[in-house]
Amino acid sequence: MADFPKNDTTRIRRLPDRGAYDKETIYQIVDEALICHVGFVQDERPFVIPTLIARDGDAILLHGASSSRMMRHIAAGESVCITTTHVDGLVLARSVFHHSVNYRSALLFGSGSLLEGKEKFAAMANFTNKLIPGRWDDARQPNKNEMKATAVVAIPIDMASAKVRVGPPGDDEEDYALDVWAGVLPIAQRFLTPQDDPRLKPGITVPNYIREYIGHE
Ligand SMILES: Cc1cc2nc3c(=O)[nH]c(=O)nc-3n(C[C@H](O)[C@H](O)[C@H](O)COP(=O)(O)OP(=O)(O)OC[C@H]3O[C@@H](n4cnc5c(N)ncnc54)[C@H](O)[C@@H]3O)c2cc1C
Repeated sequence: MADFPKNDTTRIRRLPDRGAYDKETIYQIVDEALICHVGFVQDERPFVIPTLIARDGDAILLHGASSSRMMRHIAAGESVCITTTHVDGLVLARSVFHHSVNYRSALLFGSGSLLEGKEKFAAMANFTNKLIPGRWDDARQPNKNEMKATAVVAIPIDMASAKVRVGPPGDDEEDYALDVWAGVLPIAQRFLTPQDDPRLKPGITVPNYIREYIGHE
């Protein structure tokens, strides 16, 4: 897979060795993310909107009410900056100064357009299966009116960068002699036990594709 260009917009200045421009690294970060933040400027005011994210090849898919500011902005072909972030651990150094965070983040730039017809339907399926693989075929699929109420946009990624920190703290050499605990407190996001809807029909249980996905019995 090719790299994204490293240019004046995407070149990481602070700790550039943590930067990456290859699609493999960037797409892994995007694909693991449930949500992103979409930044854009409208009437000279910046907005940053949290929303669900899915990827289709080299494009980002977003969906929402056609009337929302964000969807109208993207449908008009205006540019956006999309970020996704994973916090993997707190990095506790011996000195306060060298405390840090292990993280993986990606910034993507592009401008998109509305999807229609079969492409829109496929993108809705993509979105649903991104939440839980297999859900699209199990749940009732959207009817005409529901599809009409929902806008779906595809945003080809023009430029992108990733920044990743891994590993233990990096203290000043003389501080390694201090009697202070140092290390990493790993953080993970995980599914807990499913909770039945109080209005669930008797006899319906959590399907196997959900149990398998979340790793619960
Ligand atoms: C985890 C998560 C996932 C989401 N996924 C989706 C999605 O897939 N599709 C989708 O359309 N929306 C999603 N949303 C909601 C989204 O953030 C916006 O609220 C929505 O897209 C636009 O709402 P609007 O048209 O009412 O507001 P807009 O016209 O976009 O904004 C009007 C004003 O409402 C306020 N506002 C709007 N959204 C928020 C917010 N989230 N928090 C606080 N204030 C807000 C702001 O002050 C904003 O200026 C998600 C939100 C969260 C937190």
